Amino acid sequence: MQQDIQVTIVGSSNVDITALMARLPGPGETVLADSYQLSPGGKGANQALAAQLAGAATEFIGAVGQDSHSEVALGQLDEEGVKLDRVARTIEPTGVAIIQVDSGAENSIAVVSGANSTVTGEAVKAAGAIEGILVLQGEIPASGIKAAMDAATDRIVLNLAPVIELERDYLLKANPLVVNEHEAALILAQLDGSESISTEAEPVIAQKLMDHGLASLVITLGANGCLVAEQGSEIQQLPAVKVKAVDTTGAGDAFTGAVAARLAQGEDLAEAAVFAGRFAALTVQAHGAQASYPRSLENL
Ligand code: ATP
Repeated sequence: MQQDIQVTIVGSSNVDITALMARLPGPGETVLADSYQLSPGGKGANQALAAQLAGAATEFIGAVGQDSHSEVALGQLDEEGVKLDRVARTIEPTGVAIIQVDSGAENSIAVVSGANSTVTGEAVKAAGAIEGILVLQGEIPASGIKAAMDAATDRIVLNLAPVIELERDYLLKANPLVVNEHEAALILAQLDGSESISTEAEPVIAQKLMDHGLASLVITLGANGCLVAEQGSEIQQLPAVKVKAVDTTGAGDAFTGAVAARLAQGEDLAEAAVFAGRFAALTVQAHGAQASYPRSLENL
């Protein structure tokens, strides 16, 4: 029997093509790389995997191409039982991130949105009803984000990364908005209609965002944990779990997916953020994004 969907993610899925090399090529230059690997990525897909692994029956709505990369992009989600029936197969190729990494771990990245650019308002509307908690990021067109919000019947977790232009009324539908400290400052500038980006301390930025009327907010602070704010309560600072980080790729996505999963299971935002912090701390101790997500919740 199919379980009721508790979390729906409308967003991006990509294949990361990562080449390792001694040094990055300059303009017009060719260097020989040592090796490369293909791995699944895209914030939407990462968060869908995290939500499913954190215990929520999860659906991913997005788009991939009719190419072999689509199997890599969706492989882990399929394996873990994320519902994929409403992922469109488009003429546009599966999105790719072309990543070059040198021996000092410096990187340069080019992202081709491909099929993700077809997750428009029209496409999301055509997909139909959204079940459970809705989770969104900034890697699909704004029209797709807005159409999903219009169709949502439960709370909306908005991880506006990267930060794209979204009208105030839509930004304020987030409950919570989940962003890192840089994104928080950019969104505050958007809401203030200001050209300048605040360099104030994170709790000040959090308070100012809440003063705009957000229902709730989480600002993630890497190894420093996160801030949790809700209307009517004091802002709380939750520390991160102390671990030896080897690769933080996809930690933010793990956190967001896990928050959504725990909200769907009835926890309040602070409880969900504590769990998500533990979940994300496990992921930074292993390499890769989706590959580092815990397949069992035993150690949590
Ligand atoms: P990314 O873009 O790298 O995925 P992000 O900037 O969106 O990350 P972060 O704030 O770096 O997100 O991390 C999200 C959460 O993951 C943090 O709030 C914290 O709970 C956890 N985390 C990240 N880095 C560490 C670390 N070094 N040690 C422990 N926990 C961490």
